[in-house]
Amino acid sequence: MDAQLKEELLRKDRQYVWHPFTQMKDYETQDHVLIERAEGMFLYDADGKAYYDTVSSWWSNVHGHGHPRIKEAIARQLEQTDHVMFSGLTHRPGIELAEKLVEIAPQGLHKVFYSDNGSTAVEVALKMSFQYWQQIGRKTKTRFVFMDNSYHGDTIGAVSVGGVELYHALFKPMLFRAYRVPSPDARALGRERTPEREAALAADALEAVRALLAERAEEIAGIIVEPMIQAAGGMVMYPAAYLAGLRELCAQYDVHLIADEVATGFGRTGTMFACEHAGISPDILCVSKGLTAGVMPLAATLCRDGIYEAFYDDYATQKTFFHGHSFTGNPVAASVALASLRVFEEERVLERAREASAALAEELRSIAVQPHVANVRQLGHIAAFDLYRDAASRTPFPPERRIGYQAYLAGLEHGLILRPLGDTLYYWLPLCVAKDQIRDIVARTVKVLRSLDRAN
Ligand SMILES: *Cc1c(COP(=O)(O)O)cnc(C)c1O
Repeated sequence: MDAQLKEELLRKDRQYVWHPFTQMKDYETQDHVLIERAEGMFLYDADGKAYYDTVSSWWSNVHGHGHPRIKEAIARQLEQTDHVMFSGLTHRPGIELAEKLVEIAPQGLHKVFYSDNGSTAVEVALKMSFQYWQQIGRKTKTRFVFMDNSYHGDTIGAVSVGGVELYHALFKPMLFRAYRVPSPDARALGRERTPEREAALAADALEAVRALLAERAEEIAGIIVEPMIQAAGGMVMYPAAYLAGLRELCAQYDVHLIADEVATGFGRTGTMFACEHAGISPDILCVSKGLTAGVMPLAATLCRDGIYEAFYDDYATQKTFFHGHSFTGNPVAASVALASLRVFEEERVLERAREASAALAEELRSIAVQPHVANVRQLGHIAAFDLYRDAASRTPFPPERRIGYQAYLAGLEHGLILRPLGDTLYYWLPLCVAKDQIRDIVARTVKVLRSLDRAN
């Protein structure tokens, strides 16, 4: 792109655009990176500089950017239909994708309700669960339970079941009341972190859920969780036994288990869905981000037959699920999702990803030995670690250092898109990442860490 056009666009960006999760004043003295092209693992800026997309463009991209099968699916579907509404009308991509999702999802989830982003997938799940209990006559079951540290989206319902103070505290007066249970966040163990202690922490956290349900199950409609990884809450990874325990408790106390796999779905943790690590099936499942390989906005909320049946009756009984979005089941997005799932099968994506994640585990060792680094953790293509001023004593950097933000800036210098959560750095790698790219990404990250150390 020529320099003049670039300058003009960046000036207009400042003049007209308000970016998400961004303090715009940070951009008084620096430009947004103006991306002109995306291909495979890389984003290219207006000067042609390449950056590794180590966060999969906000945890969405699955097969790398510009996958030919995905591009072809968009073009082909646009020849047939652009957007058509999904109420009173239906279409082949919407039907075939629902069939495919039912086939690959954890067992027992047989109905698919579409929406268009992760937050709406969660809103649908909450309303579906709430209305279910009303319609089977258990009208006191109206409340939800969420985990400390959880994140389920930015709409008001989703924020009401969110456990990250930074995103939620201000909005409290707008939110509905919900019960919070502890997160089995092993970072609390500091240097004492061992698998046994993590297991004990998870058992304690489960005990808190049991106590709540024992006392209040008659008020509670469902528990919503991010399976295996609390992503936005700081890439908190917890043992599968916790999830398995939640499944048992929900069955025992007649409470819906709502699995929010908006982030973890579609291979990122090493299995198609993170629930598979615990061998469990939720009552309601939310998917979005990776559903279309991260290329088009689309979401789905899957549920068990029993839930669907509570809504299925003569119109006059007023059991209809009155919920829907303009872009529900967009056919172009659904075609892309189908193409992505075909890529999973034909390119044996999960099988090949296993080798890459083993390579990532190897490479992470060179990060673990860097100063300021602690709590290195990994599941599949997701890896994270925390920065401390003194890692041994887990003394944090002072917040005004904005060390995570400094790492983001240094990452750009070194050709990496990093998007730290506070002082937590992470990779959320596309499944197409090659072993030599992993080596290169980690080597560049080590340079970023050294540059922070020097600046310290
Ligand atoms: C990102 C995310 C959401 C929200 O998805 P949006 O598409 O950003 O609305 C919900 N749940 C989880 C676990 C997420 O990571």
